[in-house]
Amino acid sequence: IAEMLRDPSLVKTKGLINGQWVEGLTTFEVENPSTTQPLARVANLGAEDAQRAVDAAQQAMEQWRSVTAKEKSSLLRRWFDLVMEHQDDLATLMTAEQGKVFSEARGEVAYGASYIEWFAEEAKRIYGDILPATTSDRRSLVIRQPVGVVAAITPWNFPLAMITRKVAPALAAGCSIVLKPAAETPLSALALAELAQRAGIPDGLINVIPGTDAAAIGQVLTSHPLVKKVTFTGSTRVGKILMEQSARGVKRTSMELGGNAPVMVFEDADLDKAVAGVLAVKYRNAGQTCICANRILVQQSIYERFLEKLTAKVSEFVLGDGFDASVTAGPLITGQAVNSVDTLVKDAVGKGAGVCIGGKPANGKGYFYEPTVLRDLTADMRLAKEEVFGPVAPVFSFENEAEAVAMANDTEFGLAAYVFTKDPSRIWRVSERLEYGMVGVNETGISSEMIPFGGVKESGQGREGSKYGLEDYTELKYICMGDI
Ligand code: ADP
Repeated sequence: IAEMLRDPSLVKTKGLINGQWVEGLTTFEVENPSTTQPLARVANLGAEDAQRAVDAAQQAMEQWRSVTAKEKSSLLRRWFDLVMEHQDDLATLMTAEQGKVFSEARGEVAYGASYIEWFAEEAKRIYGDILPATTSDRRSLVIRQPVGVVAAITPWNFPLAMITRKVAPALAAGCSIVLKPAAETPLSALALAELAQRAGIPDGLINVIPGTDAAAIGQVLTSHPLVKKVTFTGSTRVGKILMEQSARGVKRTSMELGGNAPVMVFEDADLDKAVAGVLAVKYRNAGQTCICANRILVQQSIYERFLEKLTAKVSEFVLGDGFDASVTAGPLITGQAVNSVDTLVKDAVGKGAGVCIGGKPANGKGYFYEPTVLRDLTADMRLAKEEVFGPVAPVFSFENEAEAVAMANDTEFGLAAYVFTKDPSRIWRVSERLEYGMVGVNETGISSEMIPFGGVKESGQGREGSKYGLEDYTELKYICMGDI
């Protein structure tokens, strides 16, 4: 992989603890899901390394918390500049280890970097408050302080952005961090850490523990007394384990978990816009995002027309290796992922769903699944309840608004929902009734560093990005001053 980079020294294969690149007792292989070829062997760190990293993070934080906001801001800004300077190299690493097409990978680097830029700016806007006093000889105030050492566990679907969303606000707030990236995509994480080093971010503030024994590392990160906050993006199943473990030490948690996003298309919608919106939010990253459309709910009167238009667009996808410029759809992350998608599709088809296009794994090397559109979905199919992390659009039909809202809310998840309609009162009515953390109205490209990203119900708690995202990394301290 190194020979594909302008700056080959961005390929890092060791862990980072206290500013030192460290080996593990063993190594693990990182593979390219488009070709199934090995890319690199990375140090396999474990529980003891995590322990050391937390101790180093605590030490580093003692100094960092008293660095001025302006200085913190300019270090983060320098990191942002370096990430953007190396956008192509970072995107190359990402396409190689994760599979997303190169243009999407470049997009993720810019998106991920935007969180560093944003929190570099927000670092200078952490305010306290003077409160009304209860007696005339007192003054009451609150200040915001760093929450402490943060542990972050991140997934493979956005190998860079899911990290910057956590590391940048942590550093801006005065915290330090120990990061365990997904074992499928450690190279992006390590390159990012290398650039942080080059930016002059002090040793020990960002520690990276690549490893395959996630449970053992997670155990340390959720039980070490010096860790004060655990932030996680991944499955609801693992999120629940981490919350349980963190509860024992009353650690704060932020959880970005699974989704089951509905897209509601009403008969008064602009159909072409709705199709374009679904296409963008369903097939991006081969359907492997937590805000991907999981259930497409279309009003009966426009059902056939919608299916026709969507299927026509989906037939234009070119499946293949993300480095090929003509390719518009990449692979899934593993063979296991292909199997799980296929199982959900087979379940639906077995129960009566129709296949408009796709519906099976693609032939040849690599972990590819054909971009798929399914019709005549019903509530008894697993696709109605479970997140399909793949390029499969299950299209349901509904009669009226009340039924559509009930269907949309009929899930334990509550991350993102989308509505296509031109009726302004319906926009308000439906948006307010949806039990979701985020609602896109006539728009599916909803995420940016300036908005609070997060879910309700079993999709998690806490928000990332925006001014709200910083609060999660601070504690409010009340100071009562008497005898004034
Ligand atoms: P995904 O389906 O995206 O792989 P996971 O929740 O399995 O979702 O993985 C997200 C992150 O959680 C990865 O970094 C993975 O290594 C880590 N992880 C998986 N199991 C555990 C666990 N028991 N404790 C801590 N981290 C875990």
